[in-house]
Amino acid sequence: MENVIIIGTGCAGWTAAIYTARANLEPLVLAGGQPGGQLTTTSEVENYPGFPEGVDGPTLMFSMQQQAQKFGARIDYKTVEKVERAADGTFVLRCGDESLEATTVIVATGASARMLGLPGEDELYGKGGLTTCATCDGAFYKEMSVVVVGGGDSACEEATFLTRFASKVHLVHRRDELRASKIMAERALSHEKIEPIWSSELTAYEPGDDGKMKSVRIRNLESGEESNLEVKGVFIAIGHVPNSGFLNGLADLDENGYIIQQPGRTVTKTEGLYAAGDVADHFYRQAVTAAGQGCAAALEAERYLADREGS
Ligand code: NAP
Repeated sequence: MENVIIIGTGCAGWTAAIYTARANLEPLVLAGGQPGGQLTTTSEVENYPGFPEGVDGPTLMFSMQQQAQKFGARIDYKTVEKVERAADGTFVLRCGDESLEATTVIVATGASARMLGLPGEDELYGKGGLTTCATCDGAFYKEMSVVVVGGGDSACEEATFLTRFASKVHLVHRRDELRASKIMAERALSHEKIEPIWSSELTAYEPGDDGKMKSVRIRNLESGEESNLEVKGVFIAIGHVPNSGFLNGLADLDENGYIIQQPGRTVTKTEGLYAAGDVADHFYRQAVTAAGQGCAAALEAERYLADREGS
């Protein structure tokens, strides 16, 4: 029986591991299919406190892992398919043919950015000019022309943020009106640098000889006409999919699948089960806020274990 199993190795997971390891709880951290989480697909992180020169996403994640392991956290590369609760209030985690048991579980499985699924996506993602995070990567596109894909609040927010750097922001949306809230839509559409391209979709990324984004092909869904648009950066903002599908009803989820926490806490509806980071937070979605929630979840788990032992 483990004291605490942490599912996920992004900022939330590793921070929870550092705190629970330093509390001598010997956490077991399960890394799953994308060890290191979303930051491993980011190039330079310039807004994580403590790194005035910026830090490479994978380097930051590996440093967190080393810090957690230094204090006794153990890592296993299993993927959890289902979490169940035993009669005594502990948890059973099903991972293929194997089962793991724990008194507390911290879910820090993050959310995956929805992608378009066009050829070349894997090669271009990150350093090749394809990204899903304007806050992380916008500053690399100073005086360049970029595309944002999507019509929701995220797309409007990303497009508006990018106007600080880019010379032109093309907002490509598949319908002829935005889904975004009125205020965000108005802010984006009234900006002189943002040019909407309505009822259109990207059909191809076209990298140059250097393997970096050079242009995209765009199809007008009403006329069927295709055109070429020269851009250095493509920002996909068509939503995220939280990785919460394995919780088996132990946490309440909102209509988009994000775990519902008690206001201001990382507590879920099940005692001993905590949620931290992007799997529960669709609002801030930053490395540092995820790390903060990882810390909070660790403190919750620690107190719960102490109470259980004392009772
Ligand atoms: P969203 O509201 O689900 O919008 C996704 C957008 O992407 C929609 O316009 C959708 O088109 C488009 N889309 C989806 N799949 C696509 C595909 N395969 N190809 C092309 N376009 C596609 O997602 P979101 O903007 O990330 O927002 C998620 C939640 O977070 C929302 O509740 C939002 O209000 C909230 N949020 C709030 C803020 C804020 O208040 N500051 C900022 C960001 C997000 P259709 O419109 O045709 O469906």
